[in-house]
Amino acid sequence: MPEPSFIRSQLLATHGFQGIFSLRKGGFSQPPFDDLNLADNTGDNPAIVEKNLQYFIRAAGLNCPPHRAEQTHGHRVLKCHGTGTMHRQKADILFSEDGTPVAVRVADCTPVLIADPVHGRCAAVHAGWRGTAQSVVEHAVRALQNSGGNAEEFVASIGPCIGVCCFEIGAEAADTLRTCCNGAEDYVVQRKGKQFVDLAAINALQLHNCGLQSERIENIAEQQHTCTCCQANQFFSYRRDGQRSGRHLAIVASKTPA
Ligand SMILES: [Zn+2]
Repeated sequence: MPEPSFIRSQLLATHGFQGIFSLRKGGFSQPPFDDLNLADNTGDNPAIVEKNLQYFIRAAGLNCPPHRAEQTHGHRVLKCHGTGTMHRQKADILFSEDGTPVAVRVADCTPVLIADPVHGRCAAVHAGWRGTAQSVVEHAVRALQNSGGNAEEFVASIGPCIGVCCFEIGAEAADTLRTCCNGAEDYVVQRKGKQFVDLAAINALQLHNCGLQSERIENIAEQQHTCTCCQANQFFSYRRDGQRSGRHLAIVASKTPA
């Protein structure tokens, strides 16, 4: 069995946090969930998903499972501390009060990990097009600020998601995204009469607009030219494979949990 595969955020690492984006290889799930499926709500065998999770946590060097929640494409915050578990509450922002691991599940949607190095708090954010339209990352930044943090000191890492090459959306959604924040219109493009969106770029812009410095925003999707829909050997994709397929986890935690 190959080792679980993942991408580690270099930026978060230099600020004392672990930022981890799981990839597809190195797990026990059978098709159509092969291999490293980390969500038990799309039809895979829950015992195998748990086995994948334990295998992945060990390989990534985490001291416990991450807190997770039921995601709804909204902007609700769930505050978490202590050993992680799967919560039955609905939330798209998992907020770690003590640096314990928090995670969001994704397959095409944009995962964004934000950390406050001064106070040791962090948040994992699920930003699909609906979340992006509501500036879900801004809600996460506000939550960290409301706990005493200063946005200029935050660092953020944007993980692999569906790229502008593949993410075609309807005219109404395109109009919503064009006006969701200052400058977003540059990242909703037309090709042959169809509308395509660069979700990672809009999330980077929103982070910048709410006070994060450019050099403190890492866009892995752009830097590593990832597209979850194009690159089937590395990523799960809802658009490509439908509901009955695997999901990734994007996890953030402090390196030395309180
Ligand atoms: Zn693509």
